[in-house]
Amino acid sequence: MPKIIDGKAISAQIKDEVKERVAQLKAQGVTVCLAVIQVGADPASSVYVGNKKKACAYVGIESLSYELAEETTQEELLSLIGELNKKDEVNGILVQLPLPKQIDEDAVIRAIDPKKDVDGFHPQSVGALCIGQPGFVSCTPAGIIELLKRSGVEIAGKECVVIGRSNIVGKPMALLLLRENGTVTVAHSKTKDLKEVTRRADILIVAVGKPKMITKEYVKEGAVVIDVGIHRNENNKLCGDVDYEDAAPICSAITPVPGGVGPMTIAMLMYNCVNSVSLQ
Ligand code: NDP
Repeated sequence: MPKIIDGKAISAQIKDEVKERVAQLKAQGVTVCLAVIQVGADPASSVYVGNKKKACAYVGIESLSYELAEETTQEELLSLIGELNKKDEVNGILVQLPLPKQIDEDAVIRAIDPKKDVDGFHPQSVGALCIGQPGFVSCTPAGIIELLKRSGVEIAGKECVVIGRSNIVGKPMALLLLRENGTVTVAHSKTKDLKEVTRRADILIVAVGKPKMITKEYVKEGAVVIDVGIHRNENNKLCGDVDYEDAAPICSAITPVPGGVGPMTIAMLMYNCVNSVSLQ
């Protein structure tokens, strides 16, 4: 049977470490504060924002909440970000995505001061990651590296295949695995013979966005499989991009959905917030 990588337990461990660091900073008179902006009332976004605020309360990070109307203009949002950039007491700025269609997400991401870019989406953060400089790293891929390390999975020298090349998961994931000395292949929708590519992987990271697409035919015996996907199936139950029942028996370790990668994203956001203090 495979080892089940417990994202809930590992994320709880990270949040407790952050809580301790926040308390130490508080003892030195330094508070950590995250500004969270939501535009509109998309129910999924509201759940994510709620969970982020709850995590802040748990670790002792102050959170400022900005709930803007669906019809907010780009200028209004940029002006709020400009004000928050200037406030010394605000360490991190998070704009919940997706944004309503009248707002250009790239312009919003670029407007956030890179020193407060706790989501790690700013081009300067991405560039820093690319050339191995300090900076914020996108939370989901950073969380996956923690999952691997804290589960005792060696990355150096391993064949790592990432399915997906999005800016928030696939690309930063590939860069992080490279930084950890993995031999990295990135697969995407134009990849020829995907199964042949993925079956080379010692570590297979799946961020394809297609429910249960990855069956055991895509997996090498003994591989470590990390499932980034989150979907609701026909019975409204959560499932991932990996067909867990089918693939798990041949893996050496695998993340479940829920309880794998999901909880790590928020834990790493808290980690980025506390780190922002030393970057500022
Ligand atoms: P995107 O839809 O942005 O990217 C999907 C990627 O998969 C693209 O690069 C696409 O290729 C590739 N792809 C699509 N179909 C195929 C195929 N048939 N064969 C090979 N590659 C394919 O998704 P995200 O990266 O944003 O997210 C991926 C998954 O992770 C989603 O299920 C999302 O819900 C989940 N997610 C979970 C998070 C968490 O906290 N656990 C956080 C973020 C995302 P191409 O570039 O060629 O189109």
